[in-house]
Amino acid sequence: MSSVTFDRIAIIGLGLIGSSIGHAIKRGQLAGHIAGYARTEDTRKTALEIGFVDSVHDTAAEAVEGADLTLVCVPVGICGQVTQELSPSLKPGSIITDVGSVKQAVITAMSPHVPQGVHFIPGHPIAGTEHSGPQSGFATLFDGRWCILTPVAGTDEQALQKLTGFWQACGSMVDTMAPDHHDQVLAITSHLPQLIAYNIVGTVTELEEDTQSEVTKFSASGFRDFTRLAASDPIMWRDICIANRDAILEMLGRFTEDLTSLQRSIRRGDADKLQELFTSTRDMRRKIVEAGQDTPEADFGRHASDDSAKD
Ligand code: NAP
Repeated sequence: MSSVTFDRIAIIGLGLIGSSIGHAIKRGQLAGHIAGYARTEDTRKTALEIGFVDSVHDTAAEAVEGADLTLVCVPVGICGQVTQELSPSLKPGSIITDVGSVKQAVITAMSPHVPQGVHFIPGHPIAGTEHSGPQSGFATLFDGRWCILTPVAGTDEQALQKLTGFWQACGSMVDTMAPDHHDQVLAITSHLPQLIAYNIVGTVTELEEDTQSEVTKFSASGFRDFTRLAASDPIMWRDICIANRDAILEMLGRFTEDLTSLQRSIRRGDADKLQELFTSTRDMRRKIVEAGQDTPEADFGRHASDDSAKD
């Protein structure tokens, strides 16, 4: 048996991320048994039918009984409540982790409910699509994508290594980071682009009807990629905005200042300034491709069947 396998894994929350983890565990044969729990019976039934879990349970506490690894995959805003519900059943010496897109708020919410002797190691796989629910997951979601672990002070080194090995076996590259740094980095790389998408699509929905139909018709000129982001789960993004408020407001402030400066350059017809900005930004694209986080093909290398990673 490889060192990243677990006798029993519990997945709490069986949506996009929970189901993808289940598929990845099955693909890599990383667990003897996967127990699952989600809020609704519908989701639990679907998960069992698809087969990315081996059993489903009526409560989170029942699902985690005897688990060596518990993965909390519910929206950020309820991570604390769910951990409180399941904590009496956590096995001593086991690992509990989460996948929340915000780290500091989740750590504050979950930590008080994790019993002594259980290893809590927060995490965030930087992979996703705009789809949600138990049918949306797939085994390759984490392949070649980063998973950030944000261990808190006093984290057991062996447990950290085991969780790192687990994510690697799911296809991820793993890095560790301080929780507040994670929240700042993600505010600019993920949360701000998402808000810009919500805002631009929101602006279009306010336009008169005849303009709107042309926006849809000619959307491939740029708008289309914003709509993909703006189709993401509203609950998840509501929770992220509230949980990472300070870092998001900081980045929004910087963005607004830069946008005002760009607006001024356009108004003044400052060709040099515009060209300078538009040239420097191409560099960023090159670096992302070089880092293997996208392909250089036209249209971002995206095909109809290919959901590119986000979040
Ligand atoms: P999702 O597809 O909407 O799934 C959420 C799951 O949580 C569902 O199974 C839902 O159950 C369950 N749930 C909701 N409220 C619950 C409760 N009170 N008790 C127990 N289960 C509950 O969401 P997701 O995209 O997988 O996101 C899950 C987490 O992953 C979030 O914290 C998010 O920040 C993080 N994340 C998301 C992405 C992404 O791109 N989507 C990427 C990285 C990390 P029902 O179906 O029964 O309602």
